[in-house]
Amino acid sequence: MTAFRKSEDRFVVSASALQERAEVRTTNGNTNGRFDLLQIRPIRWLLHQRAFQWVLTTATLFFFLLAILTGLFGTPAGNKNFSIIFVWIVWWALVIIVLVPFAGRFWCTMCPIPIPGEWAQRRSFIGKRPGKLLGLGKKWPRRLRNIWLQNFAFLGVAILSGVLLTRPQATGLVLLLFVVAAFALSLIFERRAFCRYLCPVGGFIGLYSMAAPVELRVRDRDVCRTHTEKTCYLGSAEGYGCPWLVFPGALERNTYCGLCTECLKTCDRNNIVVNLRPPGSDLLVQKGRRLDEAFKGFIMVACAMIYSAVFLGPWGWLKDMANPATSSGQGMASPTRYLAYAGAFLAINLLVLPGLFYATTWLAKRLGGLKTTPRKMFIEYAYTLVPLGLLAWIAFSLAFVFVNGSYAFAVISDPFGWGWDLFGTKGFPWTPFVPQVVQYLQTGLLAGGLVTAVYLAYRIGRQNGADHAGALRAAMPITVFLTTVTLVFLRLYLG
Ligand code: SF4
Ligand code: SF4
Repeated sequence: MTAFRKSEDRFVVSASALQERAEVRTTNGNTNGRFDLLQIRPIRWLLHQRAFQWVLTTATLFFFLLAILTGLFGTPAGNKNFSIIFVWIVWWALVIIVLVPFAGRFWCTMCPIPIPGEWAQRRSFIGKRPGKLLGLGKKWPRRLRNIWLQNFAFLGVAILSGVLLTRPQATGLVLLLFVVAAFALSLIFERRAFCRYLCPVGGFIGLYSMAAPVELRVRDRDVCRTHTEKTCYLGSAEGYGCPWLVFPGALERNTYCGLCTECLKTCDRNNIVVNLRPPGSDLLVQKGRRLDEAFKGFIMVACAMIYSAVFLGPWGWLKDMANPATSSGQGMASPTRYLAYAGAFLAINLLVLPGLFYATTWLAKRLGGLKTTPRKMFIEYAYTLVPLGLLAWIAFSLAFVFVNGSYAFAVISDPFGWGWDLFGTKGFPWTPFVPQVVQYLQTGLLAGGLVTAVYLAYRIGRQNGADHAGALRAAMPITVFLTTVTLVFLRLYLG
């Protein structure tokens, strides 16, 4: 108990220092162009209910467990199995096309993966139980307090996408692994270590949530500074300390706030707001840009490109190579072919794209006369990949969601593929949805991503000391890089 108090005291000191630094370095968090959604009484009432998150996560946990069971025990035919259709088409579309661009990390509000572990930690489903959380409560290792593990976890899942997207058992096993890992970590480490540092989904949602038109912030930082109890971080009788190990008073970007709404209950100064704001506001926040996040940007763009080639392209041999469970119709694995694919996959993600971009930013620095290190410019300009990557992922996802989404109607009636007909829709035929407009939508999305990214490149140049002309000159090579990436996507989508 004494040790617990000591760590609380340490936090109070460091949080105050953090706030003071934040106050002199930023003006973000003001109300410019923002509207506090909590002014709408039903929304305020809803978000203050302790049962709010419980209802959402219990519902998604049901579907999550169903996906595990259907994956492990259902039909091996992917297009007839709930786990494949609902995880990789319905859930994916919900997250990348709807939730992330319009509501940021709202998926994390309802995500079922950490929930069994969190219930165990709290020994409670809904209410606030007094006393310490169950488990060892260890601090996450300092060296790993970044998203590198999330980057590698995402690559680990992505490199197996050829088999995950087609084999229900593989999907069921991976989902099971996620929930077991989250549970184990919640018994060893404090709060939601899995979400914050390991979850491969949380990594990209965090990055792309910077583009969202929604944010959770504090109303007035001065109030936080004088509120020494810091109940939002340490917890109170009304709720738990921030499960994501975030101090709301220092929030300037959406990246690591899981929108769990816990601080709405624990902040006894009524100082938390949930704003509608201009989309992409966080992308202009210079503070907090980091190499691990920059690499997340590269990984997401590279994966979108590779997925587009593998799953939407006309190259059967590539699709075959990407699946470790098949090989040229011979019915057995071809380790060499798959290893070649995996090697190329990792090289494009970690070497080729970042390497080309490094050369581009070096040139930008020279042209713009930017007086910062090449490493810093590499990191800063990498954030231009956030809007481009997000819109490229939406464009990619539209293609297979519009074409294959109708499988969901049949699968919901027969989730295991055992011949059930729960809702009378088992016989719903495969019906592509307006396939003729997909390419126009993709083109528009990619063009929007490119324009936003180029504008961001100019702003980043200005943030790094360039005058108007210098920022424009520096943006030129970045624009060439971004345009080339866009053209590659267009070639893949339009043929
Ligand atoms: S509890 Fe509220 S007022 Fe206090 S530090 Fe946290 S956000 Fe600020
Ligand atoms: S800052 Fe608030 S909403 Fe965000 S993760 Fe922490 S407690 Fe939840």
